[in-house]
Amino acid sequence: MKRIVVVGGGPAGMMAAIAAASNPEHRVFLLEQNEKLGKKLYITGKGRGNFTNAADMDRFLEETISNPRFLYAAFYQFSNQDLLAFLEENGLKWKEERGGRIFPVSDHASDITKALEKALRKAGVKIRLQTKVTEPVMESPKKVCGVRLSSGEVMPAEAVVIATGGLSYKTTGSTGDGLRMAEALGLAVKEPCPALVPLEVADKELLSLQGLSLKNVSFCLSAQRKKCFEGFGEILFTHFGISGPIVLSASSVLARRLHQGEAFSAAIDFKPAVEAATLDARLQRLIQTHHKKSAAHFFDELMPAKIRPLLVERAQMEPAQRIGDITKVQRQRILELLKCFLFTVKGSRGFSEAIITQGGVSVKEIQPSTMRSKRIEGLSFAGEVLDVDALTGGYNLQIAFSTGYLAGRNA
Ligand SMILES: Cc1cc2nc3c(=O)[nH]c(=O)nc-3n(C[C@H](O)[C@H](O)[C@H](O)COP(=O)(O)OP(=O)(O)OC[C@H]3O[C@@H](n4cnc5c(N)ncnc54)[C@H](O)[C@@H]3O)c2cc1C
Repeated sequence: MKRIVVVGGGPAGMMAAIAAASNPEHRVFLLEQNEKLGKKLYITGKGRGNFTNAADMDRFLEETISNPRFLYAAFYQFSNQDLLAFLEENGLKWKEERGGRIFPVSDHASDITKALEKALRKAGVKIRLQTKVTEPVMESPKKVCGVRLSSGEVMPAEAVVIATGGLSYKTTGSTGDGLRMAEALGLAVKEPCPALVPLEVADKELLSLQGLSLKNVSFCLSAQRKKCFEGFGEILFTHFGISGPIVLSASSVLARRLHQGEAFSAAIDFKPAVEAATLDARLQRLIQTHHKKSAAHFFDELMPAKIRPLLVERAQMEPAQRIGDITKVQRQRILELLKCFLFTVKGSRGFSEAIITQGGVSVKEIQPSTMRSKRIEGLSFAGEVLDVDALTGGYNLQIAFSTGYLAGRNA
């Protein structure tokens, strides 16, 4: 009989415990500091739990930002299809939505936890809630032999899986304990930084756009005149800056640079499907048709109401000016505003609003086909505690499940 302790009852830890307990020779304990399992899982996908994606595995690798090659074995050994079959077997009905995103039919992320809890019970995993692990206990510098709890109790174990998550949304229990434990053991940890996180803008006048959502725009970030991100999709203006799918993607691609305090020049093309010359012809027609109206109404047919006053101001038009009196220079300025609306991104909203943590236990320390530490016998890692992260779409939860499965199977 082998005793296995899994630290952290998130998706990675729950899956690791289930996979470890599939071997009847194993006695498996799942330790979670919260009063319940899956506290973060509960709020994923705005409470609807986008737990994987229907895409093929190549796409999974493309959507992974940090260390996709490391995840190759995990994605193939426990794929999205394996996850769907497993959850279905445990009573979860699911549906596919736009972009291949997969959710529970009920639209309740809690149903994913229910299916996992059912599997944990079936597998005979011993669950201990409100149980905080403070450190692994070592038999020697190269071999783990248990964990110490905050109560002082030592739980002996032949294998320990650390699945304590990252550093974002601390109230869910992801407080970075696993990263500190890894560092204390001398393992390399890549500095954590917030990713998939809204961005703050320096231009105060943009804050008046709070609540405005623009679909089908193109968004570009650059530094020292070098383009470093370009995306197409939806942007949401907020009381501090910008959010929405493309902004979150940008925050992941540039996570480290943003975390180091670098500012970026941002540009939105409000009309990416229209060539500048075609748009200019449209502006000229608008000037002719509405020449008697005041310039304050110039953008009425072009842009949502909320942003029109700012565009009038940036185009340096007098509100009392008539549309017919718009000069060629002003028309050129309007064209530039619509195709390249400029502002400055000064930073991110930090861990408290980050969907994921970039960085973590270095993948150089871990065997990709087992999730075991290369240097410490009996120790494995799974989920967000590792230096792996992906874009939105269900990829991050699949990473947690796939790495959790491998860690449990090979513990
Ligand atoms: C708002 C939000 C929305 C999200 N939406 C999605 C989505 O729709 N799709 C998607 O794929 N991903 C989503 N994610 C990301 C996803 O939630 C994470 O990738 C995933 O939860 C990581 O799983 P994990 O098991 O590694 O870590 P976690 O879920 O963070 O679980 C770690 C667990 O370990 C416990 N723990 C920590 N330290 C200790 C300790 N010392 N002792 C005992 N227990 C401990 C914690 O309490 C916690 O329960 C979202 C994240 C957030 C914040």
